[in-house]
Amino acid sequence: MNVPVPNNLEAFWMPFTANRQFKKAPRLLASASGMYYTTVDGRKLLDAAAGLWCVNAGHGRREIVEAVAAQVGELDYAPAFQMGHPKAFELAARLTSMMPKPLDHVFFTNSGSESVETALKIAVAYQRARGKGTKTRLIGRERGYHGVNFGGISVGGIPTNRKFFGSLLTGVDHMRHTHDIERNAYSRGQPEYGAEFADELERIIYLHDASNIAAVIVEPMAGSTGVLVPPKGYLERLREICTKHDILLIFDEVITGFGRLGAPFAVDYFGVVPDIVTTAKGITNGVIPMGGVFCSSDIYDAFMTGPEHAIELFHGYTYSAHPVACAASMATLDIYASEGLLNRGPELAQYFEDALHSLKGLPHVIDIRNIGLVGAIELQPIDGEPTKRAFAAFLSAYEKGVMMRTTGDIIALSPPLIVSKAEIDLLVSVIADVLKALP
Ligand code: PMP
Repeated sequence: MNVPVPNNLEAFWMPFTANRQFKKAPRLLASASGMYYTTVDGRKLLDAAAGLWCVNAGHGRREIVEAVAAQVGELDYAPAFQMGHPKAFELAARLTSMMPKPLDHVFFTNSGSESVETALKIAVAYQRARGKGTKTRLIGRERGYHGVNFGGISVGGIPTNRKFFGSLLTGVDHMRHTHDIERNAYSRGQPEYGAEFADELERIIYLHDASNIAAVIVEPMAGSTGVLVPPKGYLERLREICTKHDILLIFDEVITGFGRLGAPFAVDYFGVVPDIVTTAKGITNGVIPMGGVFCSSDIYDAFMTGPEHAIELFHGYTYSAHPVACAASMATLDIYASEGLLNRGPELAQYFEDALHSLKGLPHVIDIRNIGLVGAIELQPIDGEPTKRAFAAFLSAYEKGVMMRTTGDIIALSPPLIVSKAEIDLLVSVIADVLKALP
């Protein structure tokens, strides 16, 4: 079935898109089911990106559709300010039961960016709540992606996302990123070398003094900037240093949460427990916008010491714990549990890894890396034109029936967790054809 293309494409200013180029040759999706999208001109596209790293249980899941429809009919909206509805509390209890102790509380948001802002604000306010109000500085990392709001781009480390937006937050430092292609090219799983990159945190703490630092934020595995898997021992070292200096550690699990690494969360996969975890995306299988910020009981308790009638945290969103998002999330968690999707990792991940690494030696490929059900193929940049080659690969894959994601010179793959071995084979063979034909 063909769906008509709207005749006005100008009104919608598209995010993170070359608008003028796109509108000359739009790529429009009409429907989705399982592992596939269908375009408006009726072509099937294998979804190798889980939408944008979010549709972990695959598309068009009836259980979620029905839960959403029922919820809209029953309680379409409810404020969460001085009011509540049962599903918000049920969902919070269910989500926190999936987290290791002491991450016993969750604050609801509507996106990854909002989760990050919430986490940073909680971190700073927590220090003050416990009488350590000089601890305000934040430490992020080069190549970190923490969404697009001012806090997120300030602690984030992507030059193009920062440079147009003024002076950003003050009091922010960045550690260097952990991508070390010289020593770690073609790593399978966690790279061998680079735990010592964490020691840079000691240097920054020495410079500013721990008494001025609130929190460190990192993606346990940096997804959006090209699947940067943490070197062995690196996250453990960050945890050690933060504990030693009484600084909060925040893991941004917006991508790694809900099964992407082959365990429910990166916290489980790496066995490193931070003080705050941000999530979004897979929390509702991408169906309804939602995010959540998990906090340790120490943090929560520090806010609960004033008079009982007083509001503890002056922060929140009109749509925090939106009933429809809560319903979507509960139905999503049911699917994850009944199909074992959050622990689908080991066997499938091995297959995915082998398939991906079979591309080694093809034209332009300078690195392949993977962990769980996420992988990246890094291409040699064309002189002076970073992004051009990978984007050409993206367009060519689209023509051949695969939707993948590219960032800079990197092809990033993160299929829904329901992917079959045959679909992995198909994906890899299309990428092989694409690479062979690229100029
Ligand atoms: N943090 C991380 C680690 C992300 O990958 C993303 C989105 N890719 C975000 C935050 C921002 O999420 P959103 O686009 O939902 O605001």
